[in-house]
Amino acid sequence: MGSRLGRPGHASYKIEGMQGEPFERIPSPTPAPPPPDWRSPSLPIAIGVSSCLLGEEVRFDGGHKKDGYITGVLAQYFSWVPVCPEMEIGLGTPRETLRLVGDSERPRMIATKSGTDLTEAMITYAGQRVRELGEKGLSGYILKRASPSCGMARVKIYTEDGMPARAGSGLFAQALMDAFPLLPVEEEGRLTDPHLRDNFITRVFSYRRLTALRDSAPRPADLVAFHTAHKYLLLAHSPGHYEKLGRLVADLKRVPRTEWLERYGQGFLEALRVRATTRKHVNVLQHIMGFFKDHLTAGEKRELLGLIADYAGGLVPLIVPITLINHYVARFEVTYVAEQVYLHPHPKELMLRNHL
Ligand code: SF4
Repeated sequence: MGSRLGRPGHASYKIEGMQGEPFERIPSPTPAPPPPDWRSPSLPIAIGVSSCLLGEEVRFDGGHKKDGYITGVLAQYFSWVPVCPEMEIGLGTPRETLRLVGDSERPRMIATKSGTDLTEAMITYAGQRVRELGEKGLSGYILKRASPSCGMARVKIYTEDGMPARAGSGLFAQALMDAFPLLPVEEEGRLTDPHLRDNFITRVFSYRRLTALRDSAPRPADLVAFHTAHKYLLLAHSPGHYEKLGRLVADLKRVPRTEWLERYGQGFLEALRVRATTRKHVNVLQHIMGFFKDHLTAGEKRELLGLIADYAGGLVPLIVPITLINHYVARFEVTYVAEQVYLHPHPKELMLRNHL
C-alpha cells in the first residue's frame, strides 16, 4: 500500500517536504515481541466432570444433580469432559444404590440390595478410563460429592455389619487422583466456599498456563519469564515454594530441559495447592505498593494503606485494594507489576476476589 510516509516496517523513512527538503529521519519504533503463548492459552479449558452435575439423568434413580454454578458460570470458560463411571461400567438407570464396605485403604464396592461385588469391574474400568482422560488435555476435574464412585473425600465406608464407620474416596475418584496427583480436583459442594472456589479456579488457570508453557518447547529464558510473572501469585500461596523454585530457575544450565520442566511444574502446582491467606495477600499488596509509593501523595498513600488494612480486618474484599493498585500500576506504568499474573489470575467476570 503506497503512502507518503513510506512503508511500515522500514527502519527509517523520509517525507518529501514542500520545498523538497527531507524531514529529519525518525527511526520507527521497534515492534514489541509478541506475548508468549502461556499468557493467553486457548479457551475454553478442558475440565473433567461427573456427568450428573451437568444435568445428565444418570443417577441411580434416573435423576440428575445439575449444578447451576458449573453449568451457568464456569461453562463460559470451561469445556466439559463428562464421565459417569457407574453408567460406563454398564449399570443402567434406575439401578441399585452402591456403597463402599470394609477397609478404608481398600474398600469394596457393593450393590446395597443384591450384595453384588462391583469392585473389580470398577477398578479395571477406572484404570482404563483415566488413561484415556490423560489424552484429553484436562486442566482440572469437578467430582460429585459423597458418591462411592465419584466422591473426592469423606465418602462413607461401611463396616460389614452395615454401620457407616470411616471416610474415604470413591473408587473412580481415587484412581483419577492417583494417576494425576497434581491435577486440580474439587467437589461441587466445596465450590460454594469462596476460598476453596478461588483456589480451585486459580489452580485450573495456572495449570493451563503451565501446559501452554510446556507445549511451547521453552528455553531457560522462557521459564525465567514465567517464574518472574508468577512471583506474587506464588508468594500469596507459598513463599517457601517460591524460594525453592527460584533456586531451581537460577541453576537451569546444569539441568537437562526435561528435568527442569518436570521439577518446576511439580513445585509450581504444589505451591498453588497451599491456600492463600489474608496475611499472605496483605504482604503481597504491601510489597507491590512499594513499587510506586514514592509517586503517591500523602493522601493517596493513606487511602491505599487504609484499604489494605480494611481488607486485613475483613471490612472489604480483596478486589477493593487490588482495583486501586491496578489503577496506580497503569497510571505510573509499572511494567514489572503490570505483567504479574497475581493481578489477573482468572477472568474478572468470575468475580472470585469479590468474595475473599
Ligand atoms: S456421582 Fe458419578 S457415578 Fe454417580 S451418577 Fe454422578 S457421575 Fe454417575
